[in-house]
Amino acid sequence: MPDVLLSASNLVKSYGERRAVDGVSLRVLAGQTLGLLGPNGAGKSTTVGMLCGLVRPDAGEVLLAGEPINPDAMRAKGRIGLVPQDLALYEDLPALENLRLFGALYGLAGTLLAERCKAALALANLEDRARDKVATFSGGMKRRLNIACALLHEPQLLILDEPTVGVDPQSRNAIFDTLEQLKREGRSLVYTSHYMEEVERLADHIVIIDHGKVLADESPAALRERLPAQAALRFELREPLKEEHLERLRGEAGVAGISANGTAYEVRLADPDDAVSLLAWLEKNGYRIHHFATARASLEDIFLNLTGRSLRD
Ligand code: ADP
Repeated sequence: MPDVLLSASNLVKSYGERRAVDGVSLRVLAGQTLGLLGPNGAGKSTTVGMLCGLVRPDAGEVLLAGEPINPDAMRAKGRIGLVPQDLALYEDLPALENLRLFGALYGLAGTLLAERCKAALALANLEDRARDKVATFSGGMKRRLNIACALLHEPQLLILDEPTVGVDPQSRNAIFDTLEQLKREGRSLVYTSHYMEEVERLADHIVIIDHGKVLADESPAALRERLPAQAALRFELREPLKEEHLERLRGEAGVAGISANGTAYEVRLADPDDAVSLLAWLEKNGYRIHHFATARASLEDIFLNLTGRSLRD
């Protein structure tokens, strides 16, 4: 049996008439990173609020290592670190003072507090900025400091709610470096995002939610297998494909679909390796290829498949 760290069963939460979360169940194994993916308004933050005991569910329960998590369970809640979507930092204080404050809130003091602050600064790669005011930090640095703050009490589980929102690409990579380091240390993480590529990069397991319901609960590899096409070959020809050739291609076993725009084509392939033989076949039939490119299908297409919409609609 895998070691289940967190399990949530049938969580329901409504705000007035609106059901923000409608029967969400999920689990996080020890050492696992769970990616919680969904478009804006899907119910991710509300779910996260219930997972860490900030929001009381209307129905359902959350257990951390077998212990209930809810707004009254102070001790159990202390075993979770939350990095909320909105930054919670004191801009006029230096980074180190922010960490000390958070540490004190968690009941840390003396050399233990000093050690944890030092380790957190190192992890966030902010050692040389420890004495600078947070107001002078970039968005990404603030986010990393916020992650460091949530780790001071050495939580069993770290939950991050859309930590890359409003962050430039370089800082986003720095945040990922920090999170990958945590993964290597064997920490358990829950990471919410509306970016499939982020979740794909980081998560061992993906839960997709929309309109408060779970649409998929699988490993990235299993999700990828659900893709109708694994790759696409795009090419432009001097002359359009003859109708008979187009028909032949459409009937090929490995071809999942073809679209054409003038003499530009996109052939979706079940096996990326088929791109080479397809190009050879075109040449053999006398076609002159202007240029071509291959692209791997994205897990983002899964969301489209499940909902008929793209993630960023
Ligand atoms: P996500 O994090 O995926 O963007 P949320 O959990 O924030 O989704 O929101 C889910 C739905 O619940 C949305 O329709 C949102 O407007 C609504 N909602 C969230 N929090 C509140 C609240 N405190 N009061 C009223 N409605 C809320």
